[in-house]
Amino acid sequence: MSTATMAQRILIIEDEPDIIEVLKYNLEKNHYQVLTAESGEAGLAAARESLPDLVLLDLMLPGMDGLEVCRKLREDPRTRDLLVIMLTAKGTEADIVVGLTLGADDYIVKPFSTSELMARIKAVLRRVEPREGESAGETLKAGAITIDMARHEARIEGKAIELTLSEFKLLSFLVKKKGRVFTRDHLLDAVVGPDVFVTARNIDVHVAALRKKLGKYGGYIVTVRGVGYRFEEV
Ligand code: CA
Repeated sequence: MSTATMAQRILIIEDEPDIIEVLKYNLEKNHYQVLTAESGEAGLAAARESLPDLVLLDLMLPGMDGLEVCRKLREDPRTRDLLVIMLTAKGTEADIVVGLTLGADDYIVKPFSTSELMARIKAVLRRVEPREGESAGETLKAGAITIDMARHEARIEGKAIELTLSEFKLLSFLVKKKGRVFTRDHLLDAVVGPDVFVTARNIDVHVAALRKKLGKYGGYIVTVRGVGYRFEEV
């Protein structure tokens, strides 16, 4: 890793002063430059003006809520690509799904530990999302699983496994973006494309089949209750 010459900037959009204080303290300790905004409107303005490297976005805000902020960030070409981590409360899976669908990069549920948050921030900042079509010839690795994108071949401990095209697409998509949660709709788009009509249930069928074929590594595809799935080497 190269030495950072400029601190990465993180914008906190959060209305609870004690949470802002804790976040600010810990982020600055980790050498991030911190900007804060205490309402959705102010946060949106700050994001547009300062174009931070990452936005920590509380969903429960007075006035314009976090989901609306996220929607507006994604609508504006200037802020469309900003990284966004949602801060959410327990039991708000429906909001999390909406946020991820709107294009939030990740979420973290309150109350969270500082180390968990820092790990999540680092992971999101590190994430390099290859564009479609850039992956030809690439080999993906996740523990004992190896995926040869050019050959459309997956191996476990060096041994090739038989996958359908949908299963292969699903596995390679999840491995490529491991650690990140995807809704069923996202995964359906990734696997079959948006033009094919399938119900969200079908993704569960693909996941079940894929888990079975992954054998003892099936647990790498983690169900995130009420939200979707994520790939994680556990
Ligand atoms: Ca709040």
